[in-house]
Order: sequence, then C-alpha cells, then structure tokens
Amino acid sequence: MAQINQHFLKLQAGYLFPEIGRRVSAFQKDHPDAPIIKLGIGDVTKPLAPAIVEAMHQAVDEMGAEAHGYGPENGYSFLTDAIREHDYQARGVKIAADEIFVSDGSKQDSGNIQEIFGTDCQISVTDPSYPVYVDTNVMAGRTGEADSEGRYEGIIYLPASEKNGFIPPPPDQRVDLAYLCSPNNPTGAVANRDQLGQWVQWARTHDAILIFDAAYDAFIQDPDLPRSIFEIDGARECAIEMRSFSKRAGFTGTRCAYTVIPKEVFGRSVKGEPVSLNALWGRRHATKFNSVPYVIQKAAAAVFSPDGAAQTAAQVADYMRNARLIREGLGGAGFSVFGGEHAPYIWMKTPNGLSSWDFFDQLLTRAHVVGTPGSGFGPSGEGYFRISAFNSQENVEAAIERIREGFGQ
Ligand SMILES: *Cc1c(COP(=O)(O)O)cnc(C)c1O
Repeated sequence: MAQINQHFLKLQAGYLFPEIGRRVSAFQKDHPDAPIIKLGIGDVTKPLAPAIVEAMHQAVDEMGAEAHGYGPENGYSFLTDAIREHDYQARGVKIAADEIFVSDGSKQDSGNIQEIFGTDCQISVTDPSYPVYVDTNVMAGRTGEADSEGRYEGIIYLPASEKNGFIPPPPDQRVDLAYLCSPNNPTGAVANRDQLGQWVQWARTHDAILIFDAAYDAFIQDPDLPRSIFEIDGARECAIEMRSFSKRAGFTGTRCAYTVIPKEVFGRSVKGEPVSLNALWGRRHATKFNSVPYVIQKAAAAVFSPDGAAQTAAQVADYMRNARLIREGLGGAGFSVFGGEHAPYIWMKTPNGLSSWDFFDQLLTRAHVVGTPGSGFGPSGEGYFRISAFNSQENVEAAIERIREGFGQ
C-alpha cells in the first residue's frame, strides 16, 4: 500500500459544511414538513444576470464556428484588460497585464498560493477565518496537531474580537505569510485605509507577505473604503491579492477568479537571493493549470460591460438590503450583531451564552433556520454565529421573524 500524506490526518473531522448538511438532513427526516430557511453556506441564490448569459451564448456559438483551444495561460487579454481598467485603473491603481493570473476560483488560489513558499514559513491567520487558509497549510505540513479547540500548533492565530472591531492588528512575532480577508468572511467586518496601511507598513518592516483575499470587494458600500490592498502605498512590494467573480456576479457555479502578484514582490531562496513571486506563481500556474474556458472568460468579461455592471450591481444591492434587514431586525430585537454593512454576512453573538453549535441546533429545531456556527471558522468564533444575506428578501424577513419569536427577544 502506498503511504499517504500523513499531514492530512491532522485535519479536524469533516469540513464545516458537510456537518451542517448532516444535521439539517437528520432534522428534515424527522420533520418533513418543517419549512427550513437556509442562511448558512455563502452561496448566491440569484441566477446569472442577462448580460452574462447573453455573452455565454455568443461565446458558445463562436466555439461552434471555429476552434478555441488552450487559452493564454494567464487569461485572455479581453478579460485581463477589463479587470485592469475597471477593478484597478478606475480606483487609481496601475496593474500590468502580466501581473494578473485568471483562474477558476479564489478557493483554489488562496489554497494553492502556499505551494510557492517554503515549508518552514511561519503563517498567521485572523481568527475566525475562511477555513481554506489553515487547512491547506495543515496539508502542506506547516503545522503540528490541533488542540481541543481546533487550534493548530505552529500557526499564529490573531483573534478578531469585539474589542478590535473584528479587524486584528498585525502580530508582534515574526510571520512570513499573513492571510487577510476584507470584507471578511465570516465576521462581515471591513478594514479601513488606516488598518490596511498598518498591515502594509508592518509587512514591509518585517519582510512578510500579505495574502489579501478580496472576494467580497463588490459589497463595500462606502466609496472611500479601499477595495484593493494595492490602493495602499507600498503594497506592491509586499502583497498578493485574490478576487473572484463568485459573489459579485453569481459565479459560484460558473467559476472564474483572478490573483494579482506585482513584480515588486519577492521571496528569498535558501541562499538568501530574492526570487520574484510573480515568476514563481506564473511557473506554477503554467504547469498545473490550463486556463479558464473561453466561454467562462467571456462571461466574466461581460460583468464589466455597461449592462453587466448595472445588473450585477443590482444583485449585490439586493443582497445588501437583506443584510441590512438582518442587522436591523436582530439588532433591534436585542441581539448583538456585527458586520453586514459592507459584506453579505452578519456576525451574531449567540444569545444566552450558548455555544455556536448549541445555538445552531436550537435555531434549527425552534425556528427552522440554518446558519453557520462561528466556531467552525476558528477557536475565536466560539459563541458567535454567521448569518448570510444570500437568500430572497421574503425568506430573510421570515427568518428574522422566527428568530425573534423563537428566542423571545
Ligand atoms: C466565497 C469565497 C471565496 C471565493 O471562492 P471561489 O472559489 O472564487 O468561488 C474566496 N474567499 C472567501 C473568503 C470566500 O468566502
């Protein structure tokens, strides 16, 4: 028998969402008529916008008329040019075409990026965080075992708390790779210019790399808040950014994202020589990936067309109206709620000091509402609960009413 990668056995039992699915199915089996409302997993509920569907149809016809084989490794220029213009130039940021790597998802990118770094690198995550950052470093052998709270030995966890507004400051220990996500999943918190400036300053002083996940940038409501880490001076020397079409344009099942690695950002070899991370990731991408389908890249480019931009902005606005309803509805009823102003997630303190999973079970049985236990995102998420705005307004309103009734507030 072949020996397996032993590090995989350190992973905590089950990924969060299968466990939620198991509990919901079990409840549904015993209560087949319970009208369950799901505000759990962070997945969109609206269909693709018409301008995107039209672009896809057209691209299919083009593929039937002439061969479109392997695309350029880093993405078609019609897409990278649109990204440069609309996501960056429009906000005063210059990104070169060969600094963008189009991919089939930010989950993959944020999980794969650690491959180009040494196994001895010290990593930090804000806690709670998107589970992919931690789990992929566990798989790669950068950690020891997890303790009873799910805290892996060797990872620096930076607690996001009410006290720091759920945006932890940089650590005072040595860190090589720091994962940051703003607007944040799961807390819904957003970092302002000063906070990101502090992180960039820290990274430059300590020779660290920031891995900045901006999957939710389109949900930022205040135009003065930074949408990209590259809006911060000095970030080109220390940051890698990931963005996705998944949440901003309903591409969770369509799959398109991109990673930006400026040419000024370097790691070092064992001998201490600087090595371009852009070149290293380019080499990795070309070896392990054969580009995103033409039809999908055409669909992604349509997100930047005037119609596509307007239609996807309207979808985001609908989700953000739901977020406001949840925040105000539960907040007004006496629950402690955070986030939801620049992100489609509300981070709620569990009532009566319940654990995250106990509240999950009570919410399911009493209100037939599914959310996500905060502890599933890291030890500091214990005692909190994530409610997602990805559903219809009608369902969101019904869920709020049931939570208020079920928990007597
Ligand atoms: C949804 C999400 C992503 C996007 O993943 P895709 O693979 O592009 O669908 C990335 N990061 C975070 C924090 C997310 O919540």
